[in-house]
Amino acid sequence: MPLPPTHFSGTRIDRAAALRRDSAALAAAWQDSAARFLPVWDARCLIHDAAAARLTRADLGALLPPQGIFLGLEEGRPLFAIALAGPEPPAIPGEFGGLRELIGRVAEPDAGLLVYARAMVNWHRQHRHCGACGGVNQVEDGGFVLACSNPGCGQRSFPRLDPAIIVLVHRDRHCLLGRQASWPAQRFSTIAGFVEPGESLEDAVRREVAEESDIQVGECSYQASQPWPFPASLMIGFHAMAASDAIRTNDAELAEARWFTREDLAAGAVVLPPRASVAFRLIEAWFDAVPGPGLATLGHDGAFLRPAGATPEQR
Ligand SMILES: [Zn+2]
Repeated sequence: MPLPPTHFSGTRIDRAAALRRDSAALAAAWQDSAARFLPVWDARCLIHDAAAARLTRADLGALLPPQGIFLGLEEGRPLFAIALAGPEPPAIPGEFGGLRELIGRVAEPDAGLLVYARAMVNWHRQHRHCGACGGVNQVEDGGFVLACSNPGCGQRSFPRLDPAIIVLVHRDRHCLLGRQASWPAQRFSTIAGFVEPGESLEDAVRREVAEESDIQVGECSYQASQPWPFPASLMIGFHAMAASDAIRTNDAELAEARWFTREDLAAGAVVLPPRASVAFRLIEAWFDAVPGPGLATLGHDGAFLRPAGATPEQR
């Protein structure tokens, strides 16, 4: 049975996709006095009183750009993501921060809303030009299409998502966890990797697990997914049964991979991924399948790690 919704998902706004293609209605929504604006500056989101800041036209004044990205309707009010430029944080009420800093300080579903707004603004920032001919892209469909302005080209781009699998491999009483070289000594997590062209999700699970640990995977089952906006992934979570047990780390990705029992995890032998991650949820679902205190009550989960040399979009 699939797990309940993960952190960052379950945004409760109506995306109102039909409205994106209605330019008159979109223009009216932009001018609507009830409209609210979610600013993104330097890949940072704005929070205010532990919630996503929803600014009014008056809050922004001259900072309001000529257009935004239509996110949808929240209780009937149009919501737009807007990109703010400049070397210094704009002087508006609230606090700008990277998503990793803001996680845990913003209640759901607002964390998901910030993820959504930032992902759209980042995509626009990185696709100002057509990838086919280099022409300038123009915004269409409320910001959900970037269309090349070169009439001889006509390339249309759509918001980018990078699908990645993440998998808790188990065998008998053990689960397989790995540690990346850059992580602290006791930090371990599930195996993950990007899906490649021509692969099913199950193919990607088998390939990634074999590449990183030499373990052969048999049956695998979908558990949960999570938007992972560092910078644009969708994590698709599985449980998988191992068909072999001799571990050999084959590539440079993992410094170490090991089998752990529930007793190891309960005793705090490793620092687990943060509770807000689908990785933790996958481990928790396996751990909690036997009677006893739940993994979330044991407090062995760690903080979010920022990759070395992180770009603003990875913060
Ligand atoms: Zn083009």
